[in-house]
Amino acid sequence: MSERILDFLRQRRSDGPCVVVDLDIVRDNYLTFSHALPDTRVFYAVKANPAPEIIQLLADLGSCFDCASLAEIEMVLATGAGPERISFGNTIKKERDIARAHALGVSLFAVDCEAEVDKIIRAAPGARVFCRILCDGVGADWPLSRKFGCAPDMAPRVLEHAHRGGLVAHGVSFHVGSQQANVEAWDGALSTAAWIFREMAERGINLAMVNLGGGFPARYLKDMPGVPHYGEAILRALGTHFGNQIPETIIEPGRGMVGDAGIIEAEVVLISRKSDHEDELRWVYLDIGKFNGLAETMDEAIRYPIRTEKDDDRRSPCILAGPTCDSVDVLYEKTPYELPVSLSIGDKVLIGACGAYTTTYSSVAFNGFEPLRSYVI
Ligand SMILES: *Cc1c(COP(=O)(O)O)cnc(C)c1O
Repeated sequence: MSERILDFLRQRRSDGPCVVVDLDIVRDNYLTFSHALPDTRVFYAVKANPAPEIIQLLADLGSCFDCASLAEIEMVLATGAGPERISFGNTIKKERDIARAHALGVSLFAVDCEAEVDKIIRAAPGARVFCRILCDGVGADWPLSRKFGCAPDMAPRVLEHAHRGGLVAHGVSFHVGSQQANVEAWDGALSTAAWIFREMAERGINLAMVNLGGGFPARYLKDMPGVPHYGEAILRALGTHFGNQIPETIIEPGRGMVGDAGIIEAEVVLISRKSDHEDELRWVYLDIGKFNGLAETMDEAIRYPIRTEKDDDRRSPCILAGPTCDSVDVLYEKTPYELPVSLSIGDKVLIGACGAYTTTYSSVAFNGFEPLRSYVI
């Protein structure tokens, strides 16, 4: 865990849970991506953590940005980064937001159907579009399958429609699923992308770009391959499927860029048992739960590393829950969490790898709990 963050937390006075993000780690992660895929441009997925300091740092390092909404586009422009560094990557956009983005100078848009292409033809004439294809998300802890992307055999039709409407049919995108453990997951999608490139070339339309999406992992409890392994596997797959005609490529890391850079400090509010039965597990209630930062514990998908000051003591399994009066606000129950038997009410706990998908997933005031406080240092 980052010493800078631990120092910051030692000096913090106010109570209530918070997340602290270390910009040094974000910088290292950006450089690691740049080195692992030297010919690939990085588009940081702003939704993972839109803290202005993070966007500013990445803008200064030369990063581009994958934005999901007009508000995210405006946050990026506020750093001084130009609109040519922005991709409006959400496949579900209001036509008036497309028009506003276009007026701000954004000229790269994601689509996955003809109706979305039609909006762009009307609202952003001449823009570049890339077509997102479905990916099954196998091997990912947080799969993004189904909602975004079209069947690969539909993509040429969508792209040709864009071309005929005066847009630039620019390329293909996919997302192999977030927190993807399998470094080979890009291979199948790249094979499909190469097929779409060939299919389009036969129609006289030359695509230029493959958007490799996100999926690069943070280090939670499970061990994961490092970014260089992903880079090698992707370069190999590009060579296999595109031969000596490797297209322009971009990646959109969100979790892999900021996940490891943040730590949440929380507090034990209550420890109890539901009966006197000796097999009964302890329930440990924290002042943070699904509604103020830990939404990704949904279905126990993401298992965060948790540290306490009593980790040298014997541990036993607990059910870990959040503080709200909602029964879904339970973090780990199917697979209980091992915590020290000496853990007591009022103890602080540190939850690691919380830089991504925590502040943004925090409710405004459910049960009167304030959204997760965020510090970027
Ligand atoms: C969410 C998202 C990302 C980021 O995914 P990670 O797995 O967090 O890296 C990238 N691209 C698109 C289009 C997304 O929706």
